[in-house]
Amino acid sequence: MSAPVEIVLLYQSLLGIYGDRGNAMVLRQRLAWRGIDATLTIVEPGDSVPTTGAVYLLGGGEDAAQTSAVRALKADGHLFGAIERGAVLFAVCAGYQIAGRTFTVGENDDVIDGLGLLDVTTTRGTERAVGEVLSTWTKPDGTESLLTGFENHGGFTYLGPDATPLARVEIGVGNSGDGTDGAVQGTVLGIYPHGPILARNPDLADHLLELALGHDLDPLPNPELDELRRQRIAAVRKAGLRR
Ligand code: GLN
Repeated sequence: MSAPVEIVLLYQSLLGIYGDRGNAMVLRQRLAWRGIDATLTIVEPGDSVPTTGAVYLLGGGEDAAQTSAVRALKADGHLFGAIERGAVLFAVCAGYQIAGRTFTVGENDDVIDGLGLLDVTTTRGTERAVGEVLSTWTKPDGTESLLTGFENHGGFTYLGPDATPLARVEIGVGNSGDGTDGAVQGTVLGIYPHGPILARNPDLADHLLELALGHDLDPLPNPELDELRRQRIAAVRKAGLRR
């Protein structure tokens, strides 16, 4: 029997205010529904980050908390080795910002070094981006999937040459209002929306799992979820005209 697939949820005490912990539950449940054994490891600052994870998750939080989180992750150091070995990092909002090269915090826009796992930089945006986001993600097989979520961020993120945008924004701000949201670089993915985004977008959840496992997974048809997505997307499109 193979070892359980380990999902590692990082620093919820710092980066837990937007409910992104739900992403961990979604990943574990989608494996369980397929009969794949999975464990959820919850890591707080001061705990040693395991090197055995398949998927590592970072969520959203406030400026001061994300500064503490990046310091603690660097002091621990184990996340870097895990990514080098091919583990997946999925980072949302503040987590996305700290995965990058630098981000700014506070009234004086102090520049803080990020983890450097994504070739992106974040600086204070022209206005705070708050509201629903609807975007299109082109999957590795070339097919498209709509992503829905909600954003709430003051930082705007700009991609360098080593990072590729994850999605094209139809409604909302995303990275910086340039029509893109998120970034991908190898097995590191970051994006702005909460939701939790993997609950709202099961295709993206399965993509992360497939990337981590190195093989395709059986589809999990769910007409009820499809209908909920259809309704939400229609509502966001209707309301989006007024945003
Ligand atoms: N503190 C960051 C910003 O405002 C991230 C916010 C968040 O995680 N939602 O840009």
